[in-house]
Amino acid sequence: MTDIEYLSDSVFVLSLSVPKEFTFVAGQFVIFEFEEDGKKHPKSYSIFNPPSESGVLKSCIKLIDGGYASEKFRKMEAGEKISFRGPMGGLRFDESNKNHFFVCTGTGITPFYSIFKEFVASNPDHQFTLLFGTRLEKDIVLRSEFEQMAAEFDNFTYLITLTREDWSGLRGRVQEHLPESVAETSFYICGLKDMVLDTRQKLLDQDVEPEHIKIERYT
Ligand SMILES: Cc1cc2nc3c(=O)[nH]c(=O)nc-3n(C[C@H](O)[C@H](O)[C@H](O)COP(=O)(O)OP(=O)(O)OC[C@H]3O[C@@H](n4cnc5c(N)ncnc54)[C@H](O)[C@@H]3O)c2cc1C
Repeated sequence: MTDIEYLSDSVFVLSLSVPKEFTFVAGQFVIFEFEEDGKKHPKSYSIFNPPSESGVLKSCIKLIDGGYASEKFRKMEAGEKISFRGPMGGLRFDESNKNHFFVCTGTGITPFYSIFKEFVASNPDHQFTLLFGTRLEKDIVLRSEFEQMAAEFDNFTYLITLTREDWSGLRGRVQEHLPESVAETSFYICGLKDMVLDTRQKLLDQDVEPEHIKIERYT
């Protein structure tokens, strides 16, 4: 069964029924395989739901105008089937530190949502900070969900920075809002390549050990 729920004009959550035996670790991704003219066209998507929610596989997907997979998804109807490979990927929750700083833009939020749902409530002695960057206030994905999470859990902090709009919150790129103190902190970065590599380099320059920087690049 395929269910589709739009979060905005161009972002939707795809839900697939999967066998209960399908297991994954929060932070991993799958590869959807689109078939056309006898050929398979693979496209990777992070898993949105936590592993504890079994029997379902969700992804939070941004539609790109003219994009190959995006156009396939746009035409997809509830109930349609889609094949995939996986899970795979090395973006994992790093329990060796008690501070966790998550940096993402756009649908880079997807694997983090899975990690938060899996670990925030069950690890009250760990501190989680989400720094989410986007252009405009209207593009903030899942804002009310995360505001609710921040209100419910003392160990979850939610920061938003906007690049193209004046507002009461943080302004500028995510790279400009990394914490000054990086001691005993694990970092997680997810989104488009330039942001991921630039943020990673900034953290390395601050002497964060490479093994405490987990990344997933979307291109
Ligand atoms: C490990 C991994 C996990 C991923 N997880 C997700 C996920 O959870 N959700 C998600 O939405 N995407 C995710 N992606 C990106 C996804 O695989 C596709 O690249 C994306 O959906 C665009 O595919 P497309 O076929 O529609 O566009 P394409 O036909 O591949 O590209 C069309 C054009 O759009 C540009 N483009 C591609 N992506 C973007 C973007 N995000 N913003 C602006 N321009 C873009 C391309 O450079 C190209 O010029 C992930 C990628 C990787 C490698």
